[in-house]
Formats: sequence, C-alpha cells, structure tokens
Amino acid sequence: MNCRLWRQDDNGNCFLVGIYGTRELAEVRMAQLARCLHRQIYWVDETVSEERRGDMFEVHYNEEMEQEVRRLEARQRADAAGHPEWDNACIVCGSEIKGIGTDRCPACIS
Ligand SMILES: [Zn+2]
Repeated sequence: MNCRLWRQDDNGNCFLVGIYGTRELAEVRMAQLARCLHRQIYWVDETVSEERRGDMFEVHYNEEMEQEVRRLEARQRADAAGHPEWDNACIVCGSEIKGIGTDRCPACIS
C-alpha cells in the first residue's frame, strides 16, 4: 500500500507531492512541508494502486517541489543565523554556505 501526499496551493490547485511506502513517511514529509510552506494545505491519502507512480509530470513536479523546499529551508537557516541576505547557513555553527545542497558547513560535516 502507498500513501500519497497532496498539497493545495493558494489558487486551489491540487498537486501530488510524492508517493511514500508508509503513512508515517508521508506524514513526516507533510510536517516538514507544512513548516516551510505554511500557508498551504496538505493531506495524505492511501492508495492500493500504483497507477500514478510512473507519471512523468508528477515526478518532475516533485523534483521542483523538493528544490523549493530546500531553498526555503536554507533561507530559514540563514534567517536563524541572523543573515537573511544569505541563501543558506550552517544549521550547527551558523556560518554562511554557498549553494543550498547541504545544511552543514564542511567543518561541521566532518
Ligand atoms: Zn558549521
């Protein structure tokens, strides 16, 4: 059984965010998204079919969504570090990080 995570944007459009193997995974993701994109509505439903799993539009959309969330999370870390002008900051020490691919600076990863 799969769980689908949906979101509804400000214009009332519904998007499939992702398909997860368990409801728990879907709900963890939903909590993350609700924290970052809090003006939007999320819900999880369950499906026994895999009919939509291979849909290219949805896969593509999901990647854009992940990117958007990474950008917002990075911006929130920069805000928390006291530098809202940065794109990203280390979640541990608060130093600036170039790019949004990570939440820790090299010193804090090692
Ligand atoms: Zn650091």
